[in-house]
Amino acid sequence: MRRVYVVGMGPGRPEGMTVEAARALEDSEVIAGYTVYVELLREQYPEREWIVTGMTQEVERCRQALCAATQGRTTSMVCSGDAGVYGMAGLMLELSEEYPGVEVVVVSGVTAALSGAAILGAPLGHDFAVISLSDLLTPWEQILKRLACCAMADMAMALYNPSSKKRRLYLKRACEEIMKHQAPDLVCGYVKNIGREGQCGRILTLSELAETETDMFTTVFIGNSRTRRIGDHMVTPRGYEI
Ligand code: SAH
Repeated sequence: MRRVYVVGMGPGRPEGMTVEAARALEDSEVIAGYTVYVELLREQYPEREWIVTGMTQEVERCRQALCAATQGRTTSMVCSGDAGVYGMAGLMLELSEEYPGVEVVVVSGVTAALSGAAILGAPLGHDFAVISLSDLLTPWEQILKRLACCAMADMAMALYNPSSKKRRLYLKRACEEIMKHQAPDLVCGYVKNIGREGQCGRILTLSELAETETDMFTTVFIGNSRTRRIGDHMVTPRGYEI
């Protein structure tokens, strides 16, 4: 059976990749991915054929990867973090119905919510939700509703795609929605460039977060009402008595 791996490469640094993900890339003749991620891997995996496409070219990139596999070349489609979290795993499986001779193998990776959480401390130590603020494929009304429901349920959240040049005010609007149900001094945080050059994190209140500009390489953390700042760390307690 011809094989295509859909590989989550973790946040960026080779050390953040699972051994299984590294093995899948080692095993591949062809590696496909989004420009930015491919640049992080090129040096490490020489003598590969690369399929590189930009943002919004996802369907085309997946088809090219499946085609390469059909020709008998073991291929990896790489995604940052985990391949199943706003990644290509679902799309590859959907498209694979058109390529019956190809087996799709999904290899999990460390998603930004988890690698970023470790940098801040333990912000996701209790129930949490992961919500993307990108309305490219999801209506904004639905995103707001999910934010409101999680805030009402006092759930911690990791927010992906918090803002971009075209969506400058999205994080502010999201914070305003959460503030309808949570206190303005709720402990929040963000980490930029997790596992990459320029990594930096900050802990701040929900009202401060609303006035903060972030970018597409940032993951935002919203605490629950019990989340505390302990020194330089953000901690959502599990509830142990100490
Ligand atoms: N599959 C990826 C998520 C892709 S969506 C994963 O599992 O991590 C893209 C969003 O993920 C970004 O806008 C950002 O919010 C987050 N993200 C991915 N990599 C990141 C990194 N190295 N540092 C900070 N945020 C990151």
